[in-house]
Amino acid sequence: MPPPPSDASHSSAQGKVALVTGAGRGIGRAIAEALAAAGFTVVVNYASSEQAASEVVAAIEAAGGQAWSHRADVADEVQVEAMVRAVLEREGRIDVLVNNAGITRDGLLMRMKTADWQSVIDLNLTGVFLCTRAVSKPMLKARSGRIINITSVVALMGNAGQANYSAAKAGLLGLTRSNAAEFASRGVTVNAVAPGFIESDMTAELDKEPILAAIPLGRMGSAAEVAGAVRFLAADPAAAYITGQVLQVDGGMVMR
Ligand code: NAP
Repeated sequence: MPPPPSDASHSSAQGKVALVTGAGRGIGRAIAEALAAAGFTVVVNYASSEQAASEVVAAIEAAGGQAWSHRADVADEVQVEAMVRAVLEREGRIDVLVNNAGITRDGLLMRMKTADWQSVIDLNLTGVFLCTRAVSKPMLKARSGRIINITSVVALMGNAGQANYSAAKAGLLGLTRSNAAEFASRGVTVNAVAPGFIESDMTAELDKEPILAAIPLGRMGSAAEVAGAVRFLAADPAAAYITGQVLQVDGGMVMR
């Protein structure tokens, strides 16, 4: 899919910097492209998809935006600290962090390997803690910043076969609200976006029939539709008064 057309020239995001984790493909790629189109300089984090990350940067530049890529395993404290240092050295600021990187290691609890529990918690929850802590100092010092955590509707409703994933994503809700409370007095907002079932590599193998039956809008969502919610939460002043919230992008799957 081609990146959205750039409207960067009229944007309050001009000169601002957004770091998107896991942005080489899937939802992360769509978020990177949407933020670049909004005027942010985007740092495209990836762990293994080097070629794909280069293609995201090239697509953003071809659309008139600015981006560069940085490899880091976001579950690794040393690599996360080095990534944020690299952003600050090159750009001198960091305005938006999107914690998007995530994995699944599905299986029924009775047979779930401890390693599959741990790797999902390490990346999907501890990775968000590490990235948030690393950007918190410059953001609090600047008295401005937006942190957007990509959770999931399974954090709200649970899902058989995803105890590790839903626990990590539910943990993100607590982390989002606690960080929102902690950072609010310094002008830094923290929100979560909870996608339902979105077309990506992560959902490619799933049996679609029972899923579609549970979605009032009757279809899977697109990465661009998740990116639209993230772009809104990053927008200034549109989302400046929103913090500690969870925005569901799920076709009406979970109504509360
Ligand atoms: P995806 O297509 O499987 O992509 C996963 C992304 O995470 C890739 O960019 C991958 O980068 C990155 N990643 C994996 N391990 C990493 C690590 N150690 N360090 C840094 N990045 C790492 O998944 P997706 O569907 O786009 O999902 C994106 C986010 O949305 C995830 O947090 C997921 O839980 C959430 N979500 C997805 C859905 C859905 O239906 N798809 C629904 C709800 C929530 P590399 O390729 O470089 O490894």
